Amino acid sequence: NLAINEGEILGYLYSKGIKPDGVQTLDKDIVKMICKEYDVEVLDVDPVKMEEMARKKEIFDEEDLDKLEDRPPVLTIMGHVDHGKTTLLDHIRKSKVAALEAGGITQGIGAYKLLVPIDGKLQPCVFLDTPGHEAFGAMRARGARVTDIAVIVVAADDGIRPQTNEAIAHAKAAGVPIVIAINKIDKDGANPERVMQELSSIGLMPEDWGGDIPMVQISALKGENIDDLLETIMLVAELQELKANPHRNAKGTVIEAGLHKSKGPVATFIVQNGTLKRGDVVVCGEAFGKVRALFDDGGNRVDEAGPSVPVQIIGLNNVPIAGDEFEVIDSLDVAREKAEARAESLRNERIATKAGDGKVTLSSLASAVSAGKLSGLDLHQLNVILKVDVQGSIEAVRQALQVLPQDNVTLKFLLQATGDVSASDVDLAIASKAIILGFNVRAPGSVKSYADNKGVEIRLYRVIYDLIDDVRNAMEGLLEPVE
Ligand code: GDP
Repeated sequence: NLAINEGEILGYLYSKGIKPDGVQTLDKDIVKMICKEYDVEVLDVDPVKMEEMARKKEIFDEEDLDKLEDRPPVLTIMGHVDHGKTTLLDHIRKSKVAALEAGGITQGIGAYKLLVPIDGKLQPCVFLDTPGHEAFGAMRARGARVTDIAVIVVAADDGIRPQTNEAIAHAKAAGVPIVIAINKIDKDGANPERVMQELSSIGLMPEDWGGDIPMVQISALKGENIDDLLETIMLVAELQELKANPHRNAKGTVIEAGLHKSKGPVATFIVQNGTLKRGDVVVCGEAFGKVRALFDDGGNRVDEAGPSVPVQIIGLNNVPIAGDEFEVIDSLDVAREKAEARAESLRNERIATKAGDGKVTLSSLASAVSAGKLSGLDLHQLNVILKVDVQGSIEAVRQALQVLPQDNVTLKFLLQATGDVSASDVDLAIASKAIILGFNVRAPGSVKSYADNKGVEIRLYRVIYDLIDDVRNAMEGLLEPVE
């Protein structure tokens, strides 16, 4: 709402040779142009864009901004077990990579690059090789975000299943755009329309039905429509305007690491900004070292790797963890110091989370509400992950919670699904500062201790009224602290 006369804007557009037809939505660039002309500030409040901007601030320095160049998108495939993630990845890898790059993929380094023909030109894109939302969530819980687009596979003969929901929740919470691959359309009993209906009922409206979620019907097994899928992905990527500055020291994220018998610690990096070169000194997590050699996804030695390109490197003193950030440092001494400082701060962090600092719990929410200190704690919104025994419980619990007065605090459901509380639920909670409520489900010991270590609250209930009461009391500042 610019508070400027419509006719005036139309006049201005005509003067620029643009003839809007009256009802059409204006292209973003045109809106920006108008705003500039009338000296109005453009506020892009799209959450995906906001997340993107926050991320850019983290990755880019001031000096990068006028040197940005296009970079390939990095993709993750997620979806329910047996819906065809691995088959899709394999098909793409075999048909595309082997055909386009001499030698093909000889060793798994955790990601691979391939070239997709778009308008007669080959455009690169990068697939992360570990499918599933678990890996995605674990990386996010560590503060890493490498995925630009989530490809969510849904089997056309099975529809939305619990892990489909989880995958969607993870992608949404991360603000990553979603492309749906409706798979197994070759099968008897395949019903893609039904899948589209199910998806629209949870807020993912297909583009074909006027929504904004691209959905492509494929058969990963037969290799049908995979080109369509890749093209669609590349179109979504184009809209994201993915950029980086290749002319600087590299930084990025570790996506896989391990100890090799003869090579020692090996790590696969995805470069997110800059260019990584042989001989560079890097610090990543608590590890550091001089990059002695780089290998591409074909196992070939390379001299450097630019933005979005996955490379395996050797030369680190230690094995880092997937999700660790890496950056190039001028000297080995400084790298050592940084690695040590980081190890130290991680130790302190562990002690701090043990002590419960900044932990989001129902009790901390309750005391914040009663003390009237919501804003300081950023608890105006309580993010909830809801795990229940059967589908029917989801609506029952959710509806009961949604009618609670939300004057002080609003509830936001990040995920509602059936099944026991899992490590990936905890990861989602860590990355999104959420609490986990369970109704008639369990949390395995390992998951509980993981949550404890990370300062995530899991509350399990057998009686629905207890659950509702606790949440209501917390939202009203009345909940008595436990223990
Ligand atoms: P993931 O658990 O999601 O990685 O699923 P997989 O890729 O392992 O696939 C599970 C099963 O579904 C395998 O037996 C595949 O052969 C089969 N499958 C995958 N894609 C298709 C498809 O497009 N059509 C048919 N008929 N079967 C498929």
